[in-house]
Amino acid sequence: MAAAETDSEVPCARCSDFLNFSAKDTAAKWLEVDNLHKEVYQHLACFVPKIYCLGPNLNPQNEDLLAQLLLQGPLEWYLCGEEPTVGLAKLEQSNQPSQLCGHVFKVGEPTYSCRDCAADPTCVLCMQCFLGSVHKEHRYRMTTSGGGGFCDCGDTEAWKKGPYCQKHEPNIGDSSQKDPLANLSEQMIDRTRNVFSIILKYAVDMLTWEKENELPEGLEPPARGDTYYCMLFNDEVHTYEQVIYTLQKAVNCTQKEAVSFATTVDRDGRKSVRFGDFQFCEQAKSVIVRNTSRQTKPLRVQVMHSSVVAHQCFALKALNWLGQIIRSSDALRRILCLVGLHQGPNGENSLVDTLMLCDSKMWKGARNVYHQLFMSSLLMDPKYKKLFAIQFAKNYRRLQTDFMEDDHERVVSVTSLSVQLFTAPTVARMLITEENLMTTIIQTFVDHLRHRDLQGRFQFERYTAQQAFKFRRVQSLIGDLKYVLISRPTEWSNELRDKFLEGFEAFLELLKCMQGMDPVVRQVGQHIEMEPEWEAAFTLQMKLTHIISMMQEWCASDERVLIEAYKKCLSALTHCHSGFTDGEQPITLTMCGHSVDTIRYCVSQEKVSIHLPVSRLLAGLHALLSKTEVAYRFPELLPLSELSPPMLIEHPLRCLVLCAQVHAGMWRRNGFSLVNQIYYYHNVKCRVEMFDKDLVMLQAGASMMDPNHFLMIVLSRFELFHIFSSADCRKRYGRENINKDVVQQNNTLIEEMLHLVIMVVGERYIAGVGQVESYDEIKREIIHQLCIRPMAHSELVKALPENENKETGMERVIDHVALFKKPGVTGRGLYKLRPECAKMFNLYFNHYSRADQSKAEEAQRKIKRQNGEDSVLPPPVPPHFCPLFGSLVNILQCDVLLGILGAVLQWAMEPSGGHWSESMLQRVLHLLGMGLVEEQQHLTGSTEDGISFNFTLKISRPGEAPGNTPSILALLETLQNAPHLEVHKDMIRWILKTVANIKTTRECTASASPADSSGHSQEETVRDKDKAERKRKAEMARLRREKIMAQMSEMQRHFINENKDLFQQSLEELDATTSTSLEHSPSTCDSTLVCVGPRRWRAGASDRRQVVTCILCQEEQEIRADGKAMVLAAFVQRSTVMSKNRKRPPYNPDKYDPLFMHPDLSFGTHTGSCGHIMHSHCWQRYFEAVQAKEQRRQQRLRVHTSYDVENGEFLCPLCECLSNTVIPLLPLTKTTCSTEQPDQRQWINIISQQIKALHAARKKTNAEGVDDADSAEDCHPPDGFRLDHTPKNPYSGTIKEMLTTFGTATYKVGLKVHPNEQDARVPIMCWGSCAYTIQSIERLLVDEEKPLFGSLPCRQNDCLSSLTRFGSACWTASSQAVVHGHFIRLLAALVPDSQVENTPCILDIDMFHMLVSLVLSYPALHCLDSSGMSEDAAQLHLLHLVTIAHIVQILLTSIPEEVRMEQESGGAEREEEESVCLLYNTLRSHLSSGLHEVTSGWHLWHCVKTGILPYLRAAALFFHYLNGAPVPPELHAVGVGEWEALCGYLCLPSNPLQLYYNNLELLEPLLQGWCSHPGVLQALQSSTALIRFPRESNHLIELPEDYSALINQASSFTCPKSGGDKSRAPTLCLVCGAMLCSQSYCCQTELEGDDVGACTAHTFSCGAGVGIFLRVRESQVLFLAGKTKGCFYAPPYLDDYGETDQGLRRGNPLHLCQERYRKIQKLWRQHSITEEIGHAQEANQTLVGIDWQHL
Ligand SMILES: [Zn+2]
Ligand SMILES: [Zn+2]
Ligand SMILES: [Zn+2]
Ligand SMILES: [Zn+2]
Ligand SMILES: [Zn+2]
Ligand SMILES: [Zn+2]
Ligand SMILES: [Zn+2]
Repeated sequence: MAAAETDSEVPCARCSDFLNFSAKDTAAKWLEVDNLHKEVYQHLACFVPKIYCLGPNLNPQNEDLLAQLLLQGPLEWYLCGEEPTVGLAKLEQSNQPSQLCGHVFKVGEPTYSCRDCAADPTCVLCMQCFLGSVHKEHRYRMTTSGGGGFCDCGDTEAWKKGPYCQKHEPNIGDSSQKDPLANLSEQMIDRTRNVFSIILKYAVDMLTWEKENELPEGLEPPARGDTYYCMLFNDEVHTYEQVIYTLQKAVNCTQKEAVSFATTVDRDGRKSVRFGDFQFCEQAKSVIVRNTSRQTKPLRVQVMHSSVVAHQCFALKALNWLGQIIRSSDALRRILCLVGLHQGPNGENSLVDTLMLCDSKMWKGARNVYHQLFMSSLLMDPKYKKLFAIQFAKNYRRLQTDFMEDDHERVVSVTSLSVQLFTAPTVARMLITEENLMTTIIQTFVDHLRHRDLQGRFQFERYTAQQAFKFRRVQSLIGDLKYVLISRPTEWSNELRDKFLEGFEAFLELLKCMQGMDPVVRQVGQHIEMEPEWEAAFTLQMKLTHIISMMQEWCASDERVLIEAYKKCLSALTHCHSGFTDGEQPITLTMCGHSVDTIRYCVSQEKVSIHLPVSRLLAGLHALLSKTEVAYRFPELLPLSELSPPMLIEHPLRCLVLCAQVHAGMWRRNGFSLVNQIYYYHNVKCRVEMFDKDLVMLQAGASMMDPNHFLMIVLSRFELFHIFSSADCRKRYGRENINKDVVQQNNTLIEEMLHLVIMVVGERYIAGVGQVESYDEIKREIIHQLCIRPMAHSELVKALPENENKETGMERVIDHVALFKKPGVTGRGLYKLRPECAKMFNLYFNHYSRADQSKAEEAQRKIKRQNGEDSVLPPPVPPHFCPLFGSLVNILQCDVLLGILGAVLQWAMEPSGGHWSESMLQRVLHLLGMGLVEEQQHLTGSTEDGISFNFTLKISRPGEAPGNTPSILALLETLQNAPHLEVHKDMIRWILKTVANIKTTRECTASASPADSSGHSQEETVRDKDKAERKRKAEMARLRREKIMAQMSEMQRHFINENKDLFQQSLEELDATTSTSLEHSPSTCDSTLVCVGPRRWRAGASDRRQVVTCILCQEEQEIRADGKAMVLAAFVQRSTVMSKNRKRPPYNPDKYDPLFMHPDLSFGTHTGSCGHIMHSHCWQRYFEAVQAKEQRRQQRLRVHTSYDVENGEFLCPLCECLSNTVIPLLPLTKTTCSTEQPDQRQWINIISQQIKALHAARKKTNAEGVDDADSAEDCHPPDGFRLDHTPKNPYSGTIKEMLTTFGTATYKVGLKVHPNEQDARVPIMCWGSCAYTIQSIERLLVDEEKPLFGSLPCRQNDCLSSLTRFGSACWTASSQAVVHGHFIRLLAALVPDSQVENTPCILDIDMFHMLVSLVLSYPALHCLDSSGMSEDAAQLHLLHLVTIAHIVQILLTSIPEEVRMEQESGGAEREEEESVCLLYNTLRSHLSSGLHEVTSGWHLWHCVKTGILPYLRAAALFFHYLNGAPVPPELHAVGVGEWEALCGYLCLPSNPLQLYYNNLELLEPLLQGWCSHPGVLQALQSSTALIRFPRESNHLIELPEDYSALINQASSFTCPKSGGDKSRAPTLCLVCGAMLCSQSYCCQTELEGDDVGACTAHTFSCGAGVGIFLRVRESQVLFLAGKTKGCFYAPPYLDDYGETDQGLRRGNPLHLCQERYRKIQKLWRQHSITEEIGHAQEANQTLVGIDWQHL
């Protein structure tokens, strides 16, 4: 790498060469010469190697500059014949701008498609065009582009309506017909053509150049040195890690460099990794090859001469230049197209062809550049787009074959251009007729799928990985075929008919290869050894599903085509069947006096295949034929005579029987592969062209057969014929119960068979089968889905088949069948079935799975019961059949079916001993019901049908010989009273009633006189009503029971051991005790409620007594200072939720002094608790158990948990809330109130003396032995102050221990240091956490508009009270001297102390933290005092002092009043205003220049009042919890009276300024001292924003209403580290608005020794370890905590159906839901993010395994 420095010198060395160059002269010279080509090549040969590739590092800026000057310059001069800027401007003027937008999409850019107007889903708009189009008012769909492709705005073929946006609207009439070259001079055209052809040729030559060491003729450099590049190429085989590792070894670079190399190789397709002499490069190459060839084929590396690389660089540049220059002129663009597509005189390939055909040999970067050029030239010119399409079609087979071998993704293959060419309907049609494109695509496809069996069918068994790879690739051809077919022709020419039918025939050839593939044979005895391959075949089927449907649609659009296609399909099927049914024995079946010839075939013994695409296509075409005019009028003209119905039904029937047998458990030994196949056969993705069509085929066949024959064949294939054909079939019981399993199996088969009959007769919702439209079909699907339960939009979409345009057609009908219910803050919007649609419910709906069926049945019965109706679910009234299928109804009344029904009813006479089943009977009853419904329908219709279809007559007839078996009706009448048939009684009764009704109707119509049955029916309705009432009551009772059960299970959910109920009880009691004990009415002192000072409320002994229950051992325990310690589970975390400055530089944790909190609250320590109480020893035992379990677990295997035991984390044993320490519970301290107390001035004097004494004592110990007379002299400790006194620690051992535990935890977490209980900062951190937590809760209450008291949940109440009481006791766990020191330093910031240096100025202190720390550290001093001075008095004096300081702080930072109307207040506040003005002016006088002038007292008073309020509220909370004083009622409400109540409660005058005026003598000097601190003036004059009061609450950032605005913002976001690359996972910090490049190598950084992703790194600076992000591409919220914790959370964006779209898969427009966003914000403000993560991880273990730190 020695060449590095020469880099910069190189251009200079050649400066003279370059300086003398003139582009104009060169161009002039070129105009003269004969052989321009040679001349230009010479020029390039000379200059290109001098500009490009002069060292190891390319220097694009320099190179581009020089290339423009020396290479493009002369070309432009030549082209324009004048100054290029002038010439090009002229061209631009005459440019006819394209009406096509043609904007090429970047990766991740949003694209929009209109579901109403787009010709197909590939038609998309860019955001700009979309916003200016009519479609933004339509039903649009939004997606993010995968890169490539362009905006279709302006393409009239792409849009049914509104093809232009406002910008691309054509201004003048039809200008597209005009030749763009008309405006250009002949010479200009010539010159342009010369330049373009030479440059394009040059670029093509160089990009397709394969020699490493030579150049094309005419380009050899004048001098060549020994300079080479070692070029590494991209492949899709090796991973990033492999490449990085190899490079580090091969070229000896750092990991960072290797990452950068690998990124570039991945992006551009190649990158030189070494520069030097040949030997040097060759060496690197061999290392790379050696290192990567072990497992796979080696990475591709070439050692290339620098001049070759240089020319290739310029070739890319030249293509870009061409693209640039044609942008401004349609004329130049046309010339370029002309040159590109120009073929040689002998039909040699054009340059465009050459590029396409070499596509797979080029590296990624080169491909991208020329694809771009194609898009901006050929595809933008309407004329040449067609010519190009023809060339593309001609080369199609070659290109696809190359693509199969190429290992690049399809987006970088030229074959991906097919979407741009084939989707334009006119182009597609032209290519079909002129280039026979359909046939070409299909044949290419078939050619590439070579694995076949002996019969020529596809065989995917045992195919290799490489074949699998190829199989994936070949699927893209299906996509191309889909593009070609996507728009159906409206008009057919004869050529189109011919070519389409030719293509159709090719398609049939493809389907023939699939017919019967993957056959299965039932495995008996042993289980199969290896699961056979089945996925490939199903993938193929799935991919082809839409093609098959589209083929049918094309056929349907032209009757001639349809009939021809039908014939072809039929002959294909016949061809398939020859040799299929051969060798199977013919047999004759006889039953009920009918006989039929068929073959002997058992699904359970022979081969059977689930793949029958040819039969199914025929079924589809048959239904279409049935819809045509011809079918109605002259069915004899249809090619139906050649059909053999038994042949038609044979294979579909076998397939259905296979399903039934699998269901009956007969194929268990065939493994999961078969189960999966059956699943997909019915699945919504496949069923349209599989299961549904088999049913149609059965219907078609049956409609052409004698129904008895049909049913006999069905029975035979179900292997049930012997059961029903025997003479004594009605006595199954006792005859056949030899083998229980077989009986069971047969029962299931009978059920399935009956179900099949129900479907064959009843399924009429396919256009052509029944008289319905697609509208009815979809309506019925939706109704049946909603009969199961109310569903969300996306659930419905998933349950419905999508067409090729990804449409289900649901929107058209949904409002007719369903009502929409909006979602709340959680959950999603639901559609609920309209009650009137329930009558369409069919229990045997063909698309129900068994599970769906039983759910739907239950739901429907329940609804009926709730409505007080009979819960019977009779078959719905079906639509009429189309004529071709009309005869199917006769199946219902044919002898064989009646025989079967009779037999089952007969069996059901006896309680089931296994010889019949409930479902069997239910199906029989359903079939009977269908017969009756059919008859009723016939009766109301024409009289003729009424006569031919007489079901009631048939079922009234007694059975045939032998013996007088009873009629079906008679059987039913008997069964009606059978006690074992309770569940079926409704249905039987319904049948009998309907029979009666029909009979009366028949009699009516016969006698034409109304029947008199009113009396009877009235009686019946009374009885019905009674019954209904009883049922309703029973139902109510049941619901009540259910509710109680649900509550109980909910209650039990959390508990951990058998004492769960006790836990719950104790909890409730506990909540009651803790929350009410503080609300006791005042018992001592005066009636006004005061929480601080000598006059404060004092708890009596009974109030102080508090008993709690341990959640672990259930024992009750009184909280006493000398008792067993009780602790609360708690979670301490760092927080920046209230931070006003996230950019404060990181501090050094070991040196940081946290004594003074800055008012920007840049970060604090928050403590939260779930409120659950334990004995400290119980907790310790529990925690040790958790630890031990965790250690065992880690030894076994590395399992992650949602909590980190090593860091002291555990889950609360009761509620599983994440915790990391415990807070000890302490009793209220006992205090007495003596009457004589010093006033403020006296008090300060005393304290100062005490402090002096302490200073002196410390000096004495420091200077041990040396007698210091000076200090001893002026230090008289005040009366009663005993320096040598060692106070008795009031706490028991366990409490002391817990004090240390919590203190250390707060210290450790808050400062991120190792635990050290001796550290002087431990108490400071505890006070800080207390203050911070109170402040954050005060903010939360303001934001939520809740009153200060009474609205906190118990857990927070308990947490705050234990936190403050802990704070007042934590000094006992530290060294007294240390706490004294803290107190002295704190007080010195307000009361000058000559012994203390470096006190902060008051603008740098958060006064509430100050107050809390002073109050909580004072007891350490007080305990030495025995003079009778009360601690309460001290608290009050401290409060007053700090309050004054805060008022000064507020006044100093108040904002000048805006110029506005003078707010004159009434006299009420006059006094306050005057006093505040006075004080302000005093401050001004102290600060002379620092403060602005203020005239309005009202404004100042307003500033003080609003500024101090948060402080007063926080102080009220603090003293309330510290001293336990009850709260005045005013503070339980929001708003009026708060100020006075607060002042009263805090023992402050309602004008707090009085504090100052009452003690002027004392305070004036202090004030002066504060103002004279140099920091004050500095802060006031500094440019950075002052912290002003009140501090606003922080919000999460504002989000745009429309989600696509975010996508757009993210799509233009580039990775900050890898120079302009698009970020793959742009992620937005919702706290500060920063966009990050997440989940990517490029932005990984090191944090505390670990590699972390951009998000994790950001959380540490922005959120003190906690982060809330929005992953824009995924539309997903991400919560992160620390390095190892995270979870995903529902985004606050919903579509119109009230659903989120995580992963952006559905593409419905998304809009911001403020409520949900506020919920996220609340979680954040409550410090609940970590807790939320913990719960999510406990609920979903897979979240624990995610590598959160790399996000
Ligand atoms: Zn556009
Ligand atoms: Zn547009
Ligand atoms: Zn539209
Ligand atoms: Zn306990
Ligand atoms: Zn808990
Ligand atoms: Zn990045
Ligand atoms: Zn942030």
